[in-house]
Parts: sequence; C-alpha cells; structure tokens
Amino acid sequence: MTKAGLVTAHAAVIPRHNPCAQCGTPIPAPDWIEPGEGRVSYLWTCHACNYRFEAVAIFGEVAAEHPPLAA
Ligand SMILES: [Zn+2]
Repeated sequence: MTKAGLVTAHAAVIPRHNPCAQCGTPIPAPDWIEPGEGRVSYLWTCHACNYRFEAVAIFGEVAAEHPPLAA
C-alpha cells in the first residue's frame, strides 16, 4: 500500500470528488470532517451505492518537507 493517496491533501484544502471506495463514483465533498493531531479524517458517503468510508489525510510529513511561510 502506498502512502501517496494519504499525503496529497493539505490542512486548508478539503478533498473533493473523492471516488467511492466501492463503486468508484466521485463524491463531491465529505460528509464529515474530523480534525486530529497531524491528520484529518474525512467521512465519505456514496449516494450511488450508500457505501460509507473514511479517508485520513496526514499532514506531519508534508509540513516537514514544505514548511509554511512565516505568518
Ligand atoms: Zn459507491
């Protein structure tokens, strides 16, 4: 399993049009967003097949590679 799909998101960006894990139908936006330490969990519900799944975006490694500009 590659981590590529887990680290593409950014804290300020809500992933959109995530394909359903079961049928592949693009889902416009997550139903629920649950921020955590160094990661955010997104709950997706597919309206085509009613499949629900969670995707987690991990920010720790991304932040280390691309430190934000000074605020
Ligand atoms: Zn589906």
